[in-house]
Formats: sequence, structure tokens, C-alpha cells
Amino acid sequence: MTKRTEISEIGEFGLIERLSQQIDIKHPSTVKGIGDDAAVISHGDLMQVVTTDLLLEGVHFDLSYCPLKHLGFKAVAVNVSDIAAMNAIPKQITVSIALSNRFPVEAVEELYEGINMAATHYNVDVVGGDTTSSRSGLVLSVTALGETSKELLAYRSGAGVNDILCATGDLGAALIGLQVLEREKQVFLANPDMKPDLDKYSYITGRQLRPEARMDIIHELRDLQVVPTSMMDISDGLASELFHICKASDVGVLIYEDKLPIDKQTYDTAVEFGIDPITCVLNGGEDYELLFTIRQEDFQKLEKHPDVHFIGHVTPASEGKFLVTKSGTAVELKAQGWKHF
Ligand code: ADP
Ligand code: MG
Repeated sequence: MTKRTEISEIGEFGLIERLSQQIDIKHPSTVKGIGDDAAVISHGDLMQVVTTDLLLEGVHFDLSYCPLKHLGFKAVAVNVSDIAAMNAIPKQITVSIALSNRFPVEAVEELYEGINMAATHYNVDVVGGDTTSSRSGLVLSVTALGETSKELLAYRSGAGVNDILCATGDLGAALIGLQVLEREKQVFLANPDMKPDLDKYSYITGRQLRPEARMDIIHELRDLQVVPTSMMDISDGLASELFHICKASDVGVLIYEDKLPIDKQTYDTAVEFGIDPITCVLNGGEDYELLFTIRQEDFQKLEKHPDVHFIGHVTPASEGKFLVTKSGTAVELKAQGWKHF
């Protein structure tokens, strides 16, 4: 009898790792396959990067509070974010959709309004896709293609000991924004006459519904002539992404709680929900900020950047992965299931 292994036993990353062992690379032009934010394909001096994401109704989005236009924008933005994470510039996207008969033509047009808005915003061309029917709900998949040069490419694997760890923007807002949207949905379901008052939470709900890929940072890094030694986007929570960088680069990290960027609305709302704000920062998903490492000598070039935060530094792998709390204690980082100290 063949053995049955539950996917939950090995997890998403375990599954991908197991599948990648069965895959062999046949072409020298395939510079990087599975294992980074995007694959890298060489066309002489030009490096093309490719990434894809799949979004399912009921799993990744809830149309009762996520307008179709926002969903279209977000589906493009999250792919552009993975292109940015390679230090590349996005150029083209393809869009594939599966629709149940619940959706009229107007709904699909609304979705495309958001897709087209994002295509304009990120300066990418929609060059194709696929359309098919679905038994239930909406399925949306976007593939993005981008370009960069070999010298500018940033993998997860290039972090060196003593490099400075940088994170852009602020973290944890999208997760706590989702908590607010879920709560208001329950209130509305219980009493449809109640109009949700979301003004107070506009920043964090906006971060959940309409994330921004940090292409601005990619252009600024180029202007400042800073090439990150490693980079990835923060889509699954800072702690989890730090583990990816550490594994790919064979290094450790030391980060400081008081350096972690958190917005005031995120902080206050986390407290309101009885969630430790630091948990949101470390384990919140869907921030789509950038996590990268730079050489010490590049520090001055970025020192005054208002939206780049220096959260710690890279250590030898043997020193592990630690967070120094505000009180000065070093706590071992956990990729998931962060508990109070
Ligand atoms: P990200 O969060 O940056 O989108 P993922 O965690 O989704 O990255 O994927 C990690 C790596 O695994 C990527 O290189 C991705 O292309 C690859 N990958 C994910 N799912 C599959 C799959 N079913 N088959 C082959 N490669 C996959
Ligand atoms: Mg990514």
C-alpha cells in the first residue's frame, strides 16, 4: 500500500521543497528556478524574472467586503511586489480568471477596472491570460514578467555576515485591517441595518484591501546606487521571511524590537483586539513591504531615507535568529505561532 501523507504534516513550504526535488533544470538559460520570489531567465545581458500567484474566493479574498475593483488592483500589486523583490522592473502581466454564473459581465468589467488601474500605476502591459468557468466562485491568477541586469539582481541567498537588515514602510497593518473587516462583517450579518464605521480604521483596512508594491523603493535604490545583497518581499510575515533569507543565505539574524516599524493605528487596533502588536509585526501577512540586506558601506546612502528602517543585522548561522526585546532580552525567533514573551 502506498503511504498517504497529509499536506498539513509537511506544510506549504515542505510540499514545495518536496516537489522541487522531482524537477530537473534542462536549460542553461534557467538561472534560478523554484525557491525565490521569482524565477530568473537569462537572455544574454538581460535577465527576465517571472512570478505567478493564485487567488481563490473564500480562501484569499471575501467579496462581501473586498470590492472587485480593489481585488483586481491587489492581484496585480502582489505580483509586482515579487518582481520588485528581485530588484527588477515589471513589464508585462497575464491575467487568468475562472467565473461561476454568479458573476455578470459588469462584475468582470469592474474587476478589470482595478487590473487596468494597477497596470497603469505600475507601467505594465496586460498581454494575455485565460478565461474559463468555475463551479463555485471566482478564481484569479496573475503572472508577471520583469527585467533587470545580472548586476542588479537580488536573490534571497546573498546576505552576508554584518550586513544591515532593512525593512520598508510599516508592518502588521494588513493583518489587523483584516481583523477589523471580519469583525464588521459579523456585526453586519447579525444586524444588516448597522452601518459599519470604518473611518477610524481607514489606514489598516486600506492596507488589507489595496496593498502597494514598493516599486518606489526599487527606483530609489537604483538612484542611490545601492544594490541589496539579498531581498524578498514581506508577504507571509517578517519572521517567516527572515527564516527564508537565513536559510537561503546560510546566516543568522539579530533584530531589535524597538527598531521594528509599526503604525500607530495598527498598534492601537491590535491592543483593542487583545493582540500583542509585536505579533502583528512579526507574523502578520500581506504587508508587501520589502525586506533586504545592505553592506555596511552602503548605510550612509540610505541613512536618511524616511521609509527604510534598519531593524538589525546579519550574524553567522551558528548564532541563530534572535529578537532583542525592548527590555534587552534576546528571544529566539519563531517563524510561526509567535506567542507572548
Ligand atoms: P512568494 O510568497 O514570494 O509568492 P511562494 O512561497 O509562493 O513565493 O513560492 C516559493 C517558491 O516556490 C517560488 O519559487 C514559487 O515559484 C515556487 N512554487 C510554489 N508553488 C509551486 C508549484 N506548485 N510548483 C512549482 N513551484 C512552485
Ligand atoms: Mg515574495
